[in-house]
Amino acid sequence: MTRQLPDFSALRRNLLRWFDHAGRDLPWRQGPEGGRDPYRVWVAEILLQQTQVSRGLHYYQRFLDTFPTVEALAAAPQDAVLKAWEGCGYYARARNLHRAAGLVVAQGWPQTYDGWLALPGVGPYTAAAVSSLSLNEPRAVNDGNVRRVLSRLLAEAQPSEKWVQAQADALLAPERPAAWNEALMDLGATVCTPKAPTCDRCPVRAHCAALALGRPTDYPAPKVRAAVREVRAVALLIGTPDCAVLEKRDGTLLGGLSGLPSEVLGENEPPAEALARLCARLNATPGPLLGTVGHTMTHRRITLEVYRAEADAPCQQVAQAALSRLDHKALALGRMPGLFGL
Ligand code: SF4
Repeated sequence: MTRQLPDFSALRRNLLRWFDHAGRDLPWRQGPEGGRDPYRVWVAEILLQQTQVSRGLHYYQRFLDTFPTVEALAAAPQDAVLKAWEGCGYYARARNLHRAAGLVVAQGWPQTYDGWLALPGVGPYTAAAVSSLSLNEPRAVNDGNVRRVLSRLLAEAQPSEKWVQAQADALLAPERPAAWNEALMDLGATVCTPKAPTCDRCPVRAHCAALALGRPTDYPAPKVRAAVREVRAVALLIGTPDCAVLEKRDGTLLGGLSGLPSEVLGENEPPAEALARLCARLNATPGPLLGTVGHTMTHRRITLEVYRAEADAPCQQVAQAALSRLDHKALALGRMPGLFGL
């Protein structure tokens, strides 16, 4: 049963007071409250989606070093953008960010939430985050951290997207929307963490229904995860791990990235048949199996058998290509001692 928050103003006051001295010092929090640099905030919100900030900071800094301004990003070729995104996964985000940068350079920065929402790859969460943090627009963010904190504050075990947004909108501190959003994100990331919330040092513990019930981690109830589809494929390493034959991938998942030539197995198809098909396509002579690597992305778990092969085909410098983690793992098989004179 959802409880009503007893006192919004005291809750807001306590959280904002805590944020003013304990808020995180993050590289995109440059500029005054509500007037952050839109480019830095935007890149952070896109790049760090579904990634812990501590894990993503290195990637964020590398991307900003490569493209310090929206103009530099817009002017870059897509291959360079994907290379700078390497390791972050979800490459459709990088392609959309690149396209949107072109629009921003042509039209100027959006001046409202709706303006942000109109850009490719910007959904309600990102539009609320960037418009509140850089324009001080009163828009409440709704991400995993906010969902967890609100679910616990109100002891709502099954919070729907609509429910979370409605509560977040009602709670938003109207006089300090940017600080409020940053504060709620920081509380979820550093205090009200998924498995071990530190309620004894929580600034809003007096308002927390889940704590009053003595069971904070029961909220929210675990989500039912979508089934993961198993995909099996074979790939060829022609050349060396540093200079190999690469192909451009297409599709939404890895589109635009380069990778080892590969072939997906049909249902119940033995790897040998897919290998023969792949070799015929490339006019390649298959060699020994180097090993098998696995990688999970979104709702797919990919198992890739990697074979050495010979073919009369041009190799590319691997270090200059944008590759998925799966392909980096596959190339690492070729670096095992005894192969290629290593
Ligand atoms: S008291 Fe505990 S469960 Fe409640 S909001 Fe604070 S950290 Fe989260």
